[in-house]
Amino acid sequence: MNTAAIRCTNDLKMYQALLDNTDVKRMRERIQRKEEKRKSPGIRRHLLATSVRLSRSMSAGLHNMADRCTERLGLCTPLELYVYAGPRFNAACFKPEEGRLFIMFSSSLLEAFADQELLFVMGHELGHHVYQHHDIPIGYILRGQRLPPPGLALDLFTWSRYAEISADRTGAYCAEDLQSVARALFKLASGITGDRVVRFSLDEFLRQVDDMLAFDEQPGQGAPMQDWFLTHPFNPLRVKALKHFTESDLMHSGGIGKTELEDRVQQVMGLMEPDYMEGKTDASRAMRNLFLAGAIAVADVYEGISEQEREVLKSFLEKGYAVENLDSRRLRKILPKRIAEAKQWASLTQRMQVVRDLCIIARAERPVATAELELLNEIANGLNLPAGFVQQCLEASAELD
Ligand SMILES: [Zn+2]
Repeated sequence: MNTAAIRCTNDLKMYQALLDNTDVKRMRERIQRKEEKRKSPGIRRHLLATSVRLSRSMSAGLHNMADRCTERLGLCTPLELYVYAGPRFNAACFKPEEGRLFIMFSSSLLEAFADQELLFVMGHELGHHVYQHHDIPIGYILRGQRLPPPGLALDLFTWSRYAEISADRTGAYCAEDLQSVARALFKLASGITGDRVVRFSLDEFLRQVDDMLAFDEQPGQGAPMQDWFLTHPFNPLRVKALKHFTESDLMHSGGIGKTELEDRVQQVMGLMEPDYMEGKTDASRAMRNLFLAGAIAVADVYEGISEQEREVLKSFLEKGYAVENLDSRRLRKILPKRIAEAKQWASLTQRMQVVRDLCIIARAERPVATAELELLNEIANGLNLPAGFVQQCLEASAELD
């Protein structure tokens, strides 16, 4: 199997565009200069100091699984496995150093996950390496001292979701068992590992996605979904996307083609990433109008629209809006009307999406001023979003899982 063949098309497309982005290039160069200055290998030294290395004799089973994953993914870089004491399920793969690749697990994950589930987790982490996702230093860019242009911040966020979809596919390809893969994602999402109180059902887990979609089709409907949206952003959606993947001809002959697969996946992800800046539906129009009025009002509320903010807004206004026609006072005045329209046409998830995007914009210029925070909260309240949603968005991390 050629791992390139199963990579999510949207991941690849956005990844290539991001590698060409000037700000991303500049950040990559800066990181490389830093690494060249430092003589000793940083990651390995850190892992040796903070975690326990799992040798082959200590953990033959785990190493056999790792062998199986590297074989299936066609990798020949030697692997070192590490565990650290931690109650949260977590695993990570690091950029190779001196020809060695590292995977780190939390102790709770290793103890609570069955073999097939661990194969998925390992395959997922190795997928990030296979597709060189770490070449986009998303954390550095979003947390760095120099602020990224908000358009880039939005792109990075969207890309990271599709990068997870690609990694899930390599994970599923290593585990070869959708049931276990889904159970692994269920454990990650719910924290429940035993079967004393809960017996996991794939069909019912997937039904949750259908219910989310159903809620979503009823504008004005309220559902307690903010946690699915942010904290466990999209585990059920990932399972749904994986189900489509297992039904494709990438996994068995006679399945759906890749184009059809990616269309379906985009539809599933569309719950979170509607392309509303260009969409033609009533909902997209209402979202776009609200986003523009909101972004300008938030930029203006504290010390007016700066030259820098104007530039940023320009990048969003290209499609049919002229920056010189911007009248922030007029837009501030019509903001309530745009909120009302969004409430009428856009679903709850779509409204959450707009506010989250406004938060990404606001966060690009830190610290977020109190007046900006108040306005964001006012917009969120107007849209009937749960209390605390803005705060959650502002604090949400944007790292690869
Ligand atoms: Zn991941």
